[in-house]
Amino acid sequence: RVGREVRPDGSVVSIGDVAFGADEFVVIAGPCAVESHALYDEAARLVSRLGARVLRGGAFKPRTSPDSFQGLGMSGLTIMQQASREYGVPFVTEVMSPEMVGEMEPIVDAFQVGARNMQNFALLEAIGQTRTPVMLKRNFGATVSEWLKAAEYIAKGGNDQILLCERGIRSFGDETRFTLDLAGAMWAKQRSHLPVIIDPSHAIGIPDLLAGAVAAGAAAGLDGVMVEVHPDASRALCDADQALTPTQFEELMERVAPIARAA
Ligand code: PEP
Ligand code: MN
Repeated sequence: RVGREVRPDGSVVSIGDVAFGADEFVVIAGPCAVESHALYDEAARLVSRLGARVLRGGAFKPRTSPDSFQGLGMSGLTIMQQASREYGVPFVTEVMSPEMVGEMEPIVDAFQVGARNMQNFALLEAIGQTRTPVMLKRNFGATVSEWLKAAEYIAKGGNDQILLCERGIRSFGDETRFTLDLAGAMWAKQRSHLPVIIDPSHAIGIPDLLAGAVAAGAAAGLDGVMVEVHPDASRALCDADQALTPTQFEELMERVAPIARAA
């Protein structure tokens, strides 16, 4: 069960040697998608040098349009695994179907369940049978309670290594990409024993608003953040508008460091 009453002190979830829910405010960073070996290696090198503790990147991309870049598939996983070993930083990547869980399990450090698959119950159950950590994103149309119920599907199989990620919900404005529900993330942390992070890249979609949101997440006592960073941001094959440039990521890390330490 994921309710706070089960573990009043909260759980620690580890991806590789990086603990979420302990003392550290953890930064996960990397491009939206793995595009090539060279680009991913460059992204992994720069974000790990600047203090990212976990790498991100999609090999299987749940794109809104079937005509958009869908990811490199299994070869993208190999690229991430190489970079992860090279820079000594674990990685998280999205799994989209229950059939892929077994094939990806020996390769990945953590599964990501994307917003669009939050209630793919067959996928959640398949991950529940593994002992691989999983980052469960909130669907943009789901209540926090529905999100926690989705986490229960994973926990029910015996996998309690679940990290929650708030990535923005639909409201009525279109000025930001989605609406970052910071209070919802705080509520999830209070009512469950799971660590909770935010993904302001997808929630907000505007690079120069991210540092403030990350600082707010740290100040709110959340466990970390995931942001998209691309070495050649404007030319990213996926989510180019929201990717941080290396310089923007460096500035974000500098701004957040003192708040993250204090939190
Ligand atoms: C992602 O993090 O790559 C992603 C696709 O995000 P979401 O599922 O939140 O849209
Ligand atoms: Mn993205």
